Amino acid sequence: MTKLKTQSLHKRESALAQSKRQLEILSNGIFQNGELPKFKDKIAETNQFPLKAKKLEILQINVGYMCNQVCEHCHVDAGPDRQEIMTKETMKQCLEVIKNTGAHTLDLTGGAPEMNPNFRWFVEEASKAGVQDFIVRSNLTIIKANKKYYDLPEFFKKHNVHVVSSMPHWTKGKTDKQRGDGVFDKSIQALQDLNAIGYGMPDSSLRLDLVYNPSGAFLPSDQVSMEKDFKKALMEDFGIHFHNLFAITNLPISRFLDYLIASENYEDYMYQLVDAYNPAAVANVMCTNTLSVSWDGYLYDCDFNQMLELPVNSKVKHISDYNEELLEGRNIVISQHCYGCTAGAGSSCQGTVA
Ligand code: SF4
Ligand code: SF4
Repeated sequence: MTKLKTQSLHKRESALAQSKRQLEILSNGIFQNGELPKFKDKIAETNQFPLKAKKLEILQINVGYMCNQVCEHCHVDAGPDRQEIMTKETMKQCLEVIKNTGAHTLDLTGGAPEMNPNFRWFVEEASKAGVQDFIVRSNLTIIKANKKYYDLPEFFKKHNVHVVSSMPHWTKGKTDKQRGDGVFDKSIQALQDLNAIGYGMPDSSLRLDLVYNPSGAFLPSDQVSMEKDFKKALMEDFGIHFHNLFAITNLPISRFLDYLIASENYEDYMYQLVDAYNPAAVANVMCTNTLSVSWDGYLYDCDFNQMLELPVNSKVKHISDYNEELLEGRNIVISQHCYGCTAGAGSSCQGTVA
């Protein structure tokens, strides 16, 4: 029987629930005594400091930290006990920006974004803006969690939503170990429901992509070969189709940091990340073309900085004061967690970057 914690770090009142504590860990120890170089110094070696934001391409909006799952490695520290949910008023402010942005991609995330009571209204309104690629990050199990969510595949189809879903492995054992008992079976059923209406089918314009992240203190292997393995296994075992697999590195923050410390893997993992540092990945890390909006409307360089409460380095701090020109060219706020984005082929919400 898998024994996963059933409460977020916040609910458990863990010291690591505090971003300040996480940032202290990431700045002290091996990075303070010089055993490993700080990220800032590493990127300076190739004249890439300060890291600068380029033209905005992806607007990522986190509509709340509530989730039906409590996955072991969640960087959001999401769970059923989190109450932070974007209000309709903040959604309206986001819609003003969505209508006017030059970004080609809108990316809704959470938690389980579908649990926000205004999620469907927001999707309906946002889809009218005609953004080229409208992503919803769905954890799949939400579709099977309650009958009020059973029609989500049809709803996604109606609004031409691009579904991106976590699937840590093609086997039940590895998936349930990371995400909880029963997650694998429900995810398979949800994928079959999505396939049944055209999502993920070869040549279908209804995009269905999966996200893999490692189940322990190691880096993902090659994205292309993993995609082949996932496709073969899911097709042979369950007749499931999907389009692409994104391999994502776990960043050492929040519940994954908690896991690394509890399993005494923190230093080893940071060594792995620094050893695998790839200067070519720096130019394309996602903060260079992405902006992350939190449930309460504040702006961050990425979802990870949002969780570490490191706001954008700009006069513009909130979606209500949004100004794309002022935000472009800002210095990106970095710390040692950024090594997770530059290891090997690099890592972003869209998979590898180098
Ligand atoms: S489904 Fe996603 S948001 Fe929810 S706990 Fe798991 S990793 Fe976090
Ligand atoms: S963690 Fe965020 S700020 Fe750091 S490199 Fe990755 S995307 Fe950029």
